[in-house]
Amino acid sequence: MKSTRLVISVLVLFLALPVGVFAQESGLTLKLNRDFGYGGFTGDIQGLFSFQATGPADLARVEFYIDDQLVGRVDAPPWRLQFRTEDYPLGIHDLYAVGYTASAAELRSNVFKREFVKASVGYGTALRIVVPLLLISLAIPVLMYILDRRRGKQRRGYGLAGGAVCPKCGKPFARHFWAPNLGLSKFDRCPHCGKWSRVRAASAQALQAAESLLDEGAAASEPALSAEEKLRRRLEESRFQ
Ligand SMILES: [Zn+2]
Repeated sequence: MKSTRLVISVLVLFLALPVGVFAQESGLTLKLNRDFGYGGFTGDIQGLFSFQATGPADLARVEFYIDDQLVGRVDAPPWRLQFRTEDYPLGIHDLYAVGYTASAAELRSNVFKREFVKASVGYGTALRIVVPLLLISLAIPVLMYILDRRRGKQRRGYGLAGGAVCPKCGKPFARHFWAPNLGLSKFDRCPHCGKWSRVRAASAQALQAAESLLDEGAAASEPALSAEEKLRRRLEESRFQ
């Protein structure tokens, strides 16, 4: 009994499939493509768009309409026609196509209801999305900086992105705000050893400890100046006295 039912349902499925495909091909399906411009989620459009129709094999002609106004006629595939929303009055419009087969049967497509808006509206909406995102992305590091300063975590002189201790040479440096973020770390280059590594904002204590290393390094490099170099420097300084 069960197997019979299965055979029947499989048969129905096989029979239904070609019928469905045939039904789709006997009609006229319209698509609306945005070629250049703005298309909002609410059906607001502005710019350069194109109609694109698909129909049966014997489709001979397609007319594209905006309300009752004929936008254009296409007599051969591809059944495609471009239009600019600026060429039509602002407001809500019905966009559709009418096709004719070789045997003169008339096919009506699906209808798109779209509101043609001004260019400024389109850009305005885009800006309303982009500007807050930009502000947020700028505000976060500033807020983090202020918070860290308040908590006393931040050590002065390391800038907005905070100081880090290089894991390669152990020396402290100011993280570059432009360095790419990797979670809480940044992928940054140590100016002392020139090596790239993942660095987190270090605590004030860690930075202070690392700074002593920097002072030692500076002290060690001082006597390395040759006597000649020292003299030259002294002469240079004396010129301003
Ligand atoms: Zn380093």
